[in-house]
Amino acid sequence: MSTTSPIEIVGGGLAGLSLGLGLQRQGVAATVFEAGDYPRHRVCGEFITGLDERTMERLGLRDLLSDTLRHREVAWFLDDQRARIQQLPVPALGLSRHVLDARLARAFVGAGGTLRVGTRVTERTDQPGRVFATGRKLGRSPWLGLKFHCRRLSLDRDLELHLGDHAYVGLSRIEGDRVNVCGLFRRRPLSIRGPQLLLAYLTAAGFRSLGQRIEAAEIDRESFCAVAALNFDRRVESGRRVQLGDACAMIPPFTGNGMAMAFQSAERALDPLLAFARGKSSWTETRQAIEAALQARFRVRLAAADALHPFLLRPRRQRLLTALSRVRLIPFGPLYSALH
Ligand SMILES: Cc1cc2nc3c(=O)[nH]c(=O)nc-3n(C[C@H](O)[C@H](O)[C@H](O)COP(=O)(O)OP(=O)(O)OC[C@H]3O[C@@H](n4cnc5c(N)ncnc54)[C@H](O)[C@@H]3O)c2cc1C
Repeated sequence: MSTTSPIEIVGGGLAGLSLGLGLQRQGVAATVFEAGDYPRHRVCGEFITGLDERTMERLGLRDLLSDTLRHREVAWFLDDQRARIQQLPVPALGLSRHVLDARLARAFVGAGGTLRVGTRVTERTDQPGRVFATGRKLGRSPWLGLKFHCRRLSLDRDLELHLGDHAYVGLSRIEGDRVNVCGLFRRRPLSIRGPQLLLAYLTAAGFRSLGQRIEAAEIDRESFCAVAALNFDRRVESGRRVQLGDACAMIPPFTGNGMAMAFQSAERALDPLLAFARGKSSWTETRQAIEAALQARFRVRLAAADALHPFLLRPRRQRLLTALSRVRLIPFGPLYSALH
């Protein structure tokens, strides 16, 4: 590895760790700086759709994901009533972030990578060989994400997606016979803490029978987490730094697939970074090549998600969406392709 330049990655989430793993597998030394530690719970729906073979192969993810649950059917609910069953063209992968992030961290270290946990990098400037995979961009936003895991909660299908008043909630089976409950809500003035907050949001957004089902289940209090300041992007950020995953563009949850995008952005950055590390391109060329590759990969997906998002949140548009889907006027195939 001595003849190659090392790569420094700020942020040890999905984009940062998978990039580090991909680089190490190609003989390039990588260091990941992570503000937190592993394992840790994250606000996330915890199902991955549209993760392609090439990305898994190039980043070395296949073994890590080989035992994930395979979700084939989604039950959509509107006003607490089941509205439609959707067959996924390709199974979604169900695995908690608690397990996934820790597995990635272990694989990265196992491949010889250097992982510095509990290390928040405050230096934000561009440097040759430095990649930012720091997750969502902070800013004022009306959205709040909440999640916890449950036991003894039976589902209608592998995945349930519930549309409510300026809110949507996903229930996904994960490992250990557990179900991940995760929702995106427009913020309300509720001064409650812990798992009760998610239950209160379910009631406020009109998910009464869903709330009752969840209250009757066994909630894992330790897994509760919340995230605010969620800003969604219409396009890949064009900038003077290399940014991957949510740091490059954050797609609204359940319209697209932020986890697959995090991995795919790492995969797209891999070849330009290998060329840089091997002295075959300058840092400016590398940065430009990565930005062009990310624009080409995600432009259509971000635009499609931006158009679809209001239909998931606003009651009138939700009804239109449901009515169209009942009479089969929604082209699910092309829509799925545009979003993945
Ligand atoms: C409510 C909600 C539900 C979602 N559901 C799904 C879903 O079901 N399926 C799906 O595919 N996607 C989903 N997503 C999106 C998905 O969670 C993200 O797209 C994905 O986590 C992005 O990965 P990432 O590596 O870019 O960022 P992250 O996973 O957020 O990782 C960024 C890492 O960088 C670290 N970091 C940040 N700043 C610094 C710093 N200065 N120094 C050091 N470390 C730093 C953080 O601690 C963090 O570990 C959801 C998102 C939300 C909000």
